[in-house]
Amino acid sequence: MEIKVAKKMLRANDEVAASNRRALGEAGVAAVNIVGSPGAGKTALVERTVLALKGRMTIGVIEGDIATARDAERVAAAGAQVVQLSTGGACHLDAGMVAQGMEEFDLAKLDLLLIENVGNLVCTAHFDLGEGRKVLVVSTPEGDDKPAKYPAIFMRSNALVINKLDLAEAAGCDVSRIRREALELNPELDVFEVSCRTGKGLDGWLNWLTEPAAAKS
Ligand code: MG
Ligand code: ZN
Repeated sequence: MEIKVAKKMLRANDEVAASNRRALGEAGVAAVNIVGSPGAGKTALVERTVLALKGRMTIGVIEGDIATARDAERVAAAGAQVVQLSTGGACHLDAGMVAQGMEEFDLAKLDLLLIENVGNLVCTAHFDLGEGRKVLVVSTPEGDDKPAKYPAIFMRSNALVINKLDLAEAAGCDVSRIRREALELNPELDVFEVSCRTGKGLDGWLNWLTEPAAAKS
């Protein structure tokens, strides 16, 4: 019985996601759903991205958080238009929440919409938001065993950003293992090794994000 309810819920979500995708596509907005554990560095990646692309692209950011507007404040300070979605306890964004967030923007004026999901590696894999591409952020202190433990999110993402490269050695994290096991699960994954703190490795990520394929929502 519960399984039926969950399936129905996901089907309703998929319908709203399709309508989001249509609206984004018509407005020519490339939308990216950024997922990852709490503390992986999703907000830091958004901040770095907004700062790096300032003046080149008009970027909107939807910040999903269970509570507080702290991340939205950080991203606004970096120079993006930000909408804060407080999920009131929900551990992931769904397409309906994103539809509400999208209403706050003039989509015709945006080039890129970054959607920072709630920190979570589980249900974020199953809720389509209407994005063009999904990006998974993992960080080296989380360990190098995440692909095997959370395969769905690795299989459903288009890019993997391995953050906190500067801490890998101290954390005893084998970055090549993350890369290898992630690619075994999903050979299509584009993998970037970065440090949002030092700025290392971000050029490849920024190229991926701004390449023409990003416009095809
Ligand atoms: Mg955050
Ligand atoms: Zn959830």
